[in-house]
Amino acid sequence: MDKYSDEDLLMLSGIQHIAFCERQWALIHLEQQWAENVLTIEGQFLHERADDPFEDEKKGDAIIWRALQLVSYNLGLTGKTDVVELVKAPGTDADSIEIKEKKGRWKLIPVEYKHGKPKSDHCDEVQLCAQAMCLEEMHKTNIREGFIYYEAIRHRTRVDFSQTLRKQVEFFAKRMHDIYETGITPPSDFKPHCRSCSLKDLCLPNSMTDKFSVNEYLKNALDYNF
Ligand code: SF4
Repeated sequence: MDKYSDEDLLMLSGIQHIAFCERQWALIHLEQQWAENVLTIEGQFLHERADDPFEDEKKGDAIIWRALQLVSYNLGLTGKTDVVELVKAPGTDADSIEIKEKKGRWKLIPVEYKHGKPKSDHCDEVQLCAQAMCLEEMHKTNIREGFIYYEAIRHRTRVDFSQTLRKQVEFFAKRMHDIYETGITPPSDFKPHCRSCSLKDLCLPNSMTDKFSVNEYLKNALDYNF
């Protein structure tokens, strides 16, 4: 049975924010504050390109879906993909689907576009995996991998949708709902990653002495019991 209904759905894109910092997520999604820095502006430009309806809809043998609407009633999230590539699959492949007016079976492969280069944390991977979990629920299939295209290196990296990553997605989706329910923005607490945060001038985090990192934060998510 679904855990959430339409009225409960939160923005999927917020999962990258909460994976980075709970306070950042709350400032953006509870308090609707947003400060554009160079990183977010470059990111928007890339997303506009990914959403461009005039781009080719075929890439070799693959079919390209752009800006596909997503929903998961298990995670309580809604949003859209940058790109989903549909790749021909052997008829025996259980992780494939049929598509109306297309012959054969197809595997779904989500692709997300990011500015910059791969980061040391896993926030981007968490977001892509959340998209995959929405697609799985919507199309009743399994998706084992996706890709993140990084503009700075003009290369895409493969993301394995492991159980560990899926557990992090479930954890962060639940944290979004828990915090949303309370309506209370967590207090500021300066961490090393605050330096690249687009909200640092609004957040005004305090001392820079704490050694806590995003990776430690993500790792702590694995200890969460559902
Ligand atoms: S400045 Fe630091 S504490 Fe404040 S929202 Fe950004 S990451 Fe979170």
